[in-house]
Amino acid sequence: TLLFATLSDRLSATFKNLRGKGRLSEADIDATAREIRIALLEADVALPVVKDFVAAVKERARGEEVSQALNPAQQVVKIVNEELIEILGGETRRLRYAKTGPTVIMLAGLQGAGKTTLAAKLALWLKDQGKAPLLVACDLQRPNAVQQLQVNGEKVGVPVFAPEPGNGTGDPVSVAKASIEEAKRKLHDVVIVDTAGRLGVDAEMMAQAAGIRDAVQPDEVLFVVDAMIGQDALTTAQAFLDGVGYDGVVLTKLDGDARGGAALSIRQVTGRPVMFASTGEKLTDFDVFHPDRMASRILD
Ligand code: GDP
Repeated sequence: TLLFATLSDRLSATFKNLRGKGRLSEADIDATAREIRIALLEADVALPVVKDFVAAVKERARGEEVSQALNPAQQVVKIVNEELIEILGGETRRLRYAKTGPTVIMLAGLQGAGKTTLAAKLALWLKDQGKAPLLVACDLQRPNAVQQLQVNGEKVGVPVFAPEPGNGTGDPVSVAKASIEEAKRKLHDVVIVDTAGRLGVDAEMMAQAAGIRDAVQPDEVLFVVDAMIGQDALTTAQAFLDGVGYDGVVLTKLDGDARGGAALSIRQVTGRPVMFASTGEKLTDFDVFHPDRMASRILD
């Protein structure tokens, strides 16, 4: 992807320097580690993540048993690949469904992160898995957010529960509560609650999201974050972790051409796995996040 174009180029240049070497000397390993460090820093990966990453690669490159099948350059590529998968979360973290009653998924994040778009994408994806989702419009802050969700809901053929007489009093918490009753009545098995964001981290927004969370007791709270905003994504991620808490992360705008360091750091920084990725404005530009596939794309 474009997001990792520079990182990919840098890493492949590093690996190229190792090609044809019979055995890696200590100096080769140091030089390689230095280049990987620079590549990651230039890609805007958070410093503590870079440090751990480089230390792990170095240690393994030194200790790695000499494999008959791989030359030293391939050996290093293999190590970097495995460490990338590791910082991206290892295994794919799948959605957890409720054992009884509708599964409630709540979305939180800043305004412009792509939550409302993501809500519809997720609904479409769930529908394709045979689920019967209900979209819930609890972003009553941003003008047009409700309408945007309705338009997108229509596009993906998923009903939208929005504030109107009988659907809560127009405050997001009561709309959210009423939506769960609606889901039970209409036999929806997944409820996706879109919430309001602000342009920046804001105490009132956090309190509102926490209020919705308490009211609907979500099975999954997903933090939606724009991968293009760089290190700010990490600060925001931490603020939402403290203010609302969440189980997983959704990276949006992975089709962008910014440096992808935030995407590479967020798992380590928050301790929460990236579960989904959004890769464009079309409602089908969405997928489960697979750390191994992302790593191979970076090393492609
Ligand atoms: P919200 O304020 O968090 O609900 O954000 P929106 O869903 O309204 O998205 C903000 C803008 O980002 C809209 O113009 C979307 O079309 C756009 N957008 C959302 N997701 C993506 C994505 O994955 N890639 C790109 N390129 N644009 C996106």
